[in-house]
Parts: sequence; C-alpha cells; structure tokens
Amino acid sequence: MSTNTVLLKAIRLPVYCPTAVTVAVSKRMALLRILVIIWASLAASHSQAEDIQTNTLYKIIVKPSGRPAAVHLARILAEDDDGSYLIEEQSGQQQLVSAVASGGIQATGQPFQAWTKEQVAEDLLKRFPQGFKTHSSKHFVIVYNTTDAYAKWNAVLFERLHKAFYAYWKRFGAELHEPEFPLVSLIFESRDDYLKYAAEEKVQGAENMIGFYSMQTNRIATYDLTGVEGMIPDGQRLSTTELVNAILRQPAAERSVATVVHEAVHQISFNSGLQQRLALHNPVAISEGLAMYFESPDLRSSSGWNGIGNVNKYNLALFRHYLSNRPSNSLITLIQDDTRFQNAQTVNSAYGEAWALSYFLAKTRPKEFTAYLTDLATRPLTTVNDDKQRISDFQKHFGADLAKLDREFLKFIARQ
Ligand SMILES: [Zn+2]
Repeated sequence: MSTNTVLLKAIRLPVYCPTAVTVAVSKRMALLRILVIIWASLAASHSQAEDIQTNTLYKIIVKPSGRPAAVHLARILAEDDDGSYLIEEQSGQQQLVSAVASGGIQATGQPFQAWTKEQVAEDLLKRFPQGFKTHSSKHFVIVYNTTDAYAKWNAVLFERLHKAFYAYWKRFGAELHEPEFPLVSLIFESRDDYLKYAAEEKVQGAENMIGFYSMQTNRIATYDLTGVEGMIPDGQRLSTTELVNAILRQPAAERSVATVVHEAVHQISFNSGLQQRLALHNPVAISEGLAMYFESPDLRSSSGWNGIGNVNKYNLALFRHYLSNRPSNSLITLIQDDTRFQNAQTVNSAYGEAWALSYFLAKTRPKEFTAYLTDLATRPLTTVNDDKQRISDFQKHFGADLAKLDREFLKFIARQ
C-alpha cells in the first residue's frame, strides 16, 4: 500500500534522474576537476603516461582513513600527479582513489577482463543479506528480493529496450558496441530497502525518486512498483501476464513504466558507446532528453512499452506550462551548463524542455543528432567543462544560428 502512496507522490515530483541531479553534480564534478588536472599533467610528463597501461589489471591498495586497507583489482583510467587514481573494477564500477587513501599500485601482469554475469551475480549476492536472488538474461543481471515474476518482467522489458535501442541508432549511423560489463539492476522489495541502499551509495534525494542509475556503480536501483508484495499468499507466484496487468491497472502505471525504462536507457547509453560516463562536456539536458525520448510507455502493449519516440505527454505538458515564461535564451541556458537541473524551481521545466529538444532533434535531424552524440562520446575525458565549448559543439552539428533553430523548435513542438 505504501508503494502506491509513494508512487502517486512521486509523479508530482521530478522523479526522473538522479544520475543527473545528484550523483553527476556532486561526485562527478569533483572527479572531473581532478581528471582535467590529471590529463594536463600527463601531457606534460610523457614518461608517466607510458607507465600506466590502460588495459592491464592492477592491484590497487586503498587505505581509507579509519577503515582497514582494501585491495582492488582494476584498470586505471586516469592518474593524477599527486598520486590519485580513477579506477574501473572488473564489475564496471568506477571510483576515485584519492592520493591520501592510495596505498600504491602493482601490475598483475594480466590483461584487464570484465567479469561474466555469473561473477557479477556471485559478488552481489555476497553483498546483500539472505533472501536476495539473481536472474540473468542476455545482457542484464537482476538482483532482487521481490517476486520472481517482477524480476523477470524487468529483464524482458530491458532486453526488448536493448534490442530496439541498438536498432534505432544503427539506422542513423551510430557505431555501438556490445556492453563490456553485465548490466546490473537491483530491485528491492520495499521502498525502505531501496532507501537504505541509496543512503549507502550516498545518492541524495532518493526519497523523491522511484529509481536511479549511478554512473559510478553502473547499476540501476529501483523497488517493486506493483504494490503486490505482501498481497500474494505464501508459495504463490503471479505469472508475468497477471503481473503486467496488475502494474498497468494502477493509476500511476504510465510513470512507473516510464521510470524503469528511463533508467535502463541511461545504462544502455553509457554502456553501448552512445555516451560516455563522467564526460562533463556532455550536457545533462542531452542525457536526460535521450532517456525521456525512449521512455514513453504504450500501455496497450503487452509489456507496457512498445517503442521509441512517442510523444511524451507528461513532459510535453511540463514544457507547455513553461512556454508562457520561457526566456529567449532558453536553449542556450539548457545546454551551456546544468544549473537548471540543480535548482528545485527550474528542474521541472528543464526536464520538459530537454525532452522537447531531444524529440525535435531526433524527429527532424536524426543524422545530425547521432553525429553530435558520437562526437561527444568519442572525445577524450580531458575536455574541460566549458560553457562556450558546449555551445560550439551544439552549433557545429545544428548550425550557428541558434535563434533560427529555436524558432523551428517551438513551431515543431506547437504542432505536437
Ligand atoms: Zn535520467
């Protein structure tokens, strides 16, 4: 019951993406500030750059203050000359090891290899209390303590999305690769379990959201949105069809399905090469717009989702509401930095406009939109987060005359 209450509350809040709003802003900013320094120093000191082999497995000793030392097996994505590292573990998790906590590194002499689904599942089961199970599909590992049927429904939905996502971008010339790491989705039985996990991961604002994707852990976390837990007699399981019907009958179904799909789009984007994690030159408006472009549910379909690029009525309404007060430089402020996503007063309209912009670009300029995304995704992380750089990247692909583009944008959205 409490699940339903929360859901209804959530649909009036910006439930979408904590990736952008919390994790990206706090942790990612700190990280990239260091990365920028790192790469500048590597350029100056060539021999240092040659010391680190990017696809080699290293033993990294971490000594966090007040806690016992730990050894991480990982590859090193970047190094600072003060001795801090950005590392990526075999599970796909990334973390920054500060100079203070760093206890040294040793090459193992072995190449870096991502874990298999079985290794990832085994590792996560050790982390969670008894009662958690895993379900694997072709690309996803679902770790859950809710019903088997709900976990399977998620896996089917994610695989369907994965297939549609790759097919969609291929049409417009994107060269995507298979995810290097198994894609992990954690599904908690209750909102309390989910909030506890979010607190452990230091994700802020989780109480206002029904799911999130973390760029650091590379995992999605949600909780069972059906409200059926505890309502099923012991020993009984709902079949997937019954379960889907139970989900879709709920008043908040549209947003529930949208949120699950939204977070999975982030995960697939960042693991297929369409976008890169930790890239500050990538506007939050673009990541969020992309996720919203794909999320629109189709409640008439058997899974609740049936495709890409439907009009997102929820976000269209947010954007229309914003139009009466929309300043003439709105497109520029949306792209040049992420501040509109960080302010409670402006976040809703920023999401609405981000959806509208992605919808406009994808429908009217799909090849240019794909080329723009590819340009951002293939650029080294060295790029400084520079407002002017973001605008010139945008102009490079969509034309220098942003006032003209803005007029076409508004005209196009007015017809939807
Ligand atoms: Zn999002």
